[in-house]
Amino acid sequence: MSARRRRFGLTVEADAAITLHTPEGRSASDAADFVRAHRPWLVSKRALREQARPLSPSKRLIEGETFRYLGRTYRLAIVGDKSENDSVWLAAGRLIMGRELAEDTSRGRVALVDWYCRTGHAWVTERLQPWAARMSVPEPTVDVCDLGSRWGTYRSEENGQGPGRMSLGWPLFQLPMHLIDYVIAHELAHARIPGHDAHFWRLVRRALPEHKERRMELDDLGRRMWMGEII
Ligand SMILES: [Zn+2]
Repeated sequence: MSARRRRFGLTVEADAAITLHTPEGRSASDAADFVRAHRPWLVSKRALREQARPLSPSKRLIEGETFRYLGRTYRLAIVGDKSENDSVWLAAGRLIMGRELAEDTSRGRVALVDWYCRTGHAWVTERLQPWAARMSVPEPTVDVCDLGSRWGTYRSEENGQGPGRMSLGWPLFQLPMHLIDYVIAHELAHARIPGHDAHFWRLVRRALPEHKERRMELDDLGRRMWMGEII
């Protein structure tokens, strides 16, 4: 198939930028006519993209930088204690990091993500059982890791026997508990139904009647979360 385009094409990119593909041999005024004719489409498409655009902040590993955990904000405190160099921990309402880690941003980032994975995992392990019971599904094994921009995934066992595996993305644990609950309920519903058909949403609604509001809140707040970028 030829890569050369014969027709005009408009694309609204994920960051809401607009790209116009112009075929060879077409004039600038043809292009302007094409764009004008598609203006209403462009405006509505761009508004949609704008609503979904990630606004993730980047962070610095400096004293006072803010990090969220379970919906609360914690300021970073950098300490000189050499014995705790490889870890990050919460104490007295502050997120604490050793000075050496803060000064080596790539190691500091790894330690922070690792902290979200460990503390998130401990938290969700406690939280999972009541949800699984409420939804009458076997409690899956759970891991917390880097899933890119996804909040969660669910994988059934190969043979359909026994519990499946739920994976949650570490940035999820910055969000308030009721939004993490939504993701848990959503992924648990996949233990019964793999896709997102009407049966699936009925199952989610039975466990969590306000799931639509939570999903909207997750979309809105979720795109403002830190996704791991350190500057
Ligand atoms: Zn799903």
